[in-house]
This record gives sequence, C-alpha cells and structure tokens, in this order.
Amino acid sequence: MDRETVIVLDFGGQYNQLIARRVRECNVYCEIYSYRTSIEKIKEIHPKGIIFTGGPNSCYEADSPTYTKEIFQLGIPILGICYGSQLMMHLLGGTVETAPVREYGKIEVTVDTTSKLFQDVSEKTICWMSHNDYISKVAPGFRISAHTADCPAAAMEDTERNLYATQFHPEVLHTKEGKKMLSNFVYQVCGCSGDWKMDSFVEESIQAIRKKVGDGKVLCALSGGVDSSVAAVMLSKAVGNQLTCVFVDHGLLRKNEGDEVEAVFGPEGPYDLNFIRVNAQERFYSKLKGVEDPEKKRKIIGEEFIRVFEEEAKKIGQVDFLVQGTIYPDVVESGVGGESTVIKSHHNVGGLPDYVDFKEIIEPLRDLFKDEVRQAGLELGIPEYLVFRQPFPGPGLGIRIIGEVTAEKVQMVQDADAIWREEIAKAGWDKKVNQYFAALTNMRSVGVMGDERTYDYAIALRAVTTTDFMTAESAEIPWEIIGKVTSRIVNEVKHINRVMYDCTGKPPATIEFE
Ligand code: GLN
Repeated sequence: MDRETVIVLDFGGQYNQLIARRVRECNVYCEIYSYRTSIEKIKEIHPKGIIFTGGPNSCYEADSPTYTKEIFQLGIPILGICYGSQLMMHLLGGTVETAPVREYGKIEVTVDTTSKLFQDVSEKTICWMSHNDYISKVAPGFRISAHTADCPAAAMEDTERNLYATQFHPEVLHTKEGKKMLSNFVYQVCGCSGDWKMDSFVEESIQAIRKKVGDGKVLCALSGGVDSSVAAVMLSKAVGNQLTCVFVDHGLLRKNEGDEVEAVFGPEGPYDLNFIRVNAQERFYSKLKGVEDPEKKRKIIGEEFIRVFEEEAKKIGQVDFLVQGTIYPDVVESGVGGESTVIKSHHNVGGLPDYVDFKEIIEPLRDLFKDEVRQAGLELGIPEYLVFRQPFPGPGLGIRIIGEVTAEKVQMVQDADAIWREEIAKAGWDKKVNQYFAALTNMRSVGVMGDERTYDYAIALRAVTTTDFMTAESAEIPWEIIGKVTSRIVNEVKHINRVMYDCTGKPPATIEFE
C-alpha cells in the first residue's frame, strides 16, 4: 500500500470507528484491525502510526486482550487510549490496578504543553474519561505529561521510542481539544503528510477501476441510496457504457421511490449508463411469507437480490464484475475489521452464496465512512439532494415492518412514512434531525372509529439526532407536528388506529426499528 496509513488496533472499545474517523478528518487514512491481527500482518501494512483503543476488560486479568511486546520494537509510533494506555504500561513494566477513584465523564485535565501530543492545547482542558482502573506506576522510560485531580497519570510518553498514552479519550467530541491531540499525534509524532483527500481518492479510484475492469462488463446493484448512487456514478465515469445498472424494485422501497430512482438514473436522467429496472415485488413478498425474524428477513432479501442480479446478468450476456455500495462501517460491523460483535448482518458484506457466477466483486466505497462517501459524491458532481439523502437500509421497509411482511403492510408503512416525512420537511425539521421514518409495529389493538370497533395496527414514528450514527438521541419533535401527523395517519392510512413516538436513543435501541 503506498498511501500513508495509521492503524487502529481494536481491543474491543466502543469508539474504535470514531478514532479512525477523527484520524481521517486530519487527512490521514486510517483502518481498524482486531488485536488478534498478527504482527507479521502489521509489518506488511507498514503503518505510519498505531493507535490502541479502549476496551471493557482490565489488562491485568489473565484472558484480557493483549498483544505481543514486539510491537513496541518496530519503531512505529504508538498511541494508547484508555485500555490501550493501560495495556501499554502493563506490558512495558508499569502497574495498572483498580483506581481508588474512578472517573467518568468530562474531567479537567492539566497537560504539559511542551509535549508533542499537547502542542497548541490549553494547559487546562476538558477531556472525556471512562475508567475503573488506573495507572499507578508508569513503565520505565516514560514520563507523565498530564494529570487530573484523581488520576496522577492521565497521559504519559516515552519520546525516545515514540510511545504515547492517554487515559482519556481524545476521539470523543466531549474531549474539547481531542482532535488537536490526534492531529498532533499523526503529524508531529508519526510525521504524516496528510495525503488522504477525497478529490484524489475519487480520481485514483476511477483509474484503478478502469485498470481492473479493462474491457470487461460491469453490473451495478443500484438501490437509489447514497452509497450505491455514488458507486454507480463512479463506475459510469470509469467505464462508461460497459456498465449496466440494475435497479431491483423489491417492493420494500419508500413511497414513489422506484420512480424517483428511475428519473435520475434512467434514460431521461443526466448519466450515461445502461439502466434496467426489475419489478420483483411479488418475488420478494412470497419469499418473505411467514418470516418474522429480522435477521432472517435481511438474509432472505439479500440473497434474493443476488439471485435477481444473476438472472439479469445472464440476460445481458457475460458479466465480469458486480459492483456493490458497501461502506467501511458495514465492513467493521460485520466483524471483518475490528472487534465489534455482529449487531446486524449486512446483505452486502460476506453474505454472498458461493454459487454466484460473477468473476469478481467491486466495492469502490469499501474504505469510506459515510461522510466521506458524501464528499466523494459531491466530488463526482452528484446533486446535493441525492448526496444528502437520509440513510435507508438495503432490506428497506422489509425490516421496518416488525414481524411478517405483506404487500398490505408495505403500503401502510409507505403511506405513514410519506406523511411523516412530508410534515417534518414542511415544518423545517428535516434539517434539524439526521434520520426520521415510520415503522410498522406488529402490534394490533382495539380502537374506535366512527362508532365502530377496530382492531388495527400501530405505527411507530422515529426521528433521531446523531453526529456519527454510532450513537443517537431521540429528537424532541414538537408535539404540534406529532399531533398533526398522528391525525393524518389514522385518517389517511387504512388499518392504522394508533401512532406512537419512539423516545429511545442508541444505545440501547438502534436507529432502525426492526
Ligand atoms: N476497562 C478499563 C478500565 O475500566 C479501560 C476502560 C476503557 O478503555 N474505556 O479502566
């Protein structure tokens, strides 16, 4: 790899992706690897720097995640964060034990501004802490470079070996000057030059795709979402009409969305590509019949997608490559990178049955975080309304319908969702919340309408604010809007007699409602 890279070695912390994103915001490419990654592999990657993440364990316990001490001898700068700092001390001869006073939340830290890590940082600065253990004795060769009232070693460093450690979390926004510290690490300590920029990424990707594809035929799975739209436009710029985009209308799209996608990518739209729309609604509904488990639904929808593509590919003739809009969080959350447990399976990662008959998969956005995909989209000249579309899951409304999916339920959730989105936008709240949609609960209850007893479904409205989609808060939508939407939904959407608002954040819920 010739691009300069910093790697995050993941010890199970919740903020692993955040660390990588912050580093990339400094224009340095960053990837996440599990602590189980071999040292040989790390040597091969030849990173400019390594960051050890936090983690839930105590490093002094027998089966806690650890790493070979050899990593400190590679001459590669290392920054340990929280668990990562404790592990560094533990491995190098310091002492870590249960802290007499645990720290949680925003804490004032006094830093030594002569440290490279704290260059241009205020001497007293607010940092995010979350620890039960503490470093009671730093390892030989280290000096303490920051402390708090309760934590004598809040940061330490061995400038000879380029080893740095912080008990607090610089990646979290609550750490006021955290971005500066990470930037100091990658520039002052690791000596990075900052070559990770979206314009060059787009240009390089187009070149690489051209080279890889040659005169082969490419089939792109287009969903109309941000990711696949950006992937499709990138491919069309790279290989022109060797690209065919197949848009599968699985009958689980938002209201009118199929036609909207066709208007942009079809023959009437601005792009030069072969566009095929497959109306496969019935096929998906019949596969989903009787299936209630959300993971099963995701798998069925994902596999059916592949089958439909295969059939289309056969009709087109020889197809060599299949394009997918997989992005980096999909990769990490599927357990391929990093240490995070599989929360949801993504139909576009690793879920391909082995009898797929394409030569190869192209995933041009596989290395990108969402905000980077959007930037790439703008670089490609894709209109803003498409680039800033809110996220929509691949399995679509299939997972926003709790329990069995039927054509009738799809229509209910489509209509309710359209009303919710329309009113949110009308009230100007579409700019204030990051994701909002309606889901159909599987709950039926008794109601009364026009003096008649009903036994109908309940709709759940969801709206969240989030900066990174890793955590989220339920948005405080004014009652006025919710009230208006509620009465419109129960009046206009058949078989809905109740509307509820989801007040739960992520965690403990997810942003999706499935
Ligand atoms: N488990 C360790 C502690 O409690 C590290 C915590 C963390 O990495 N957030 O101190």
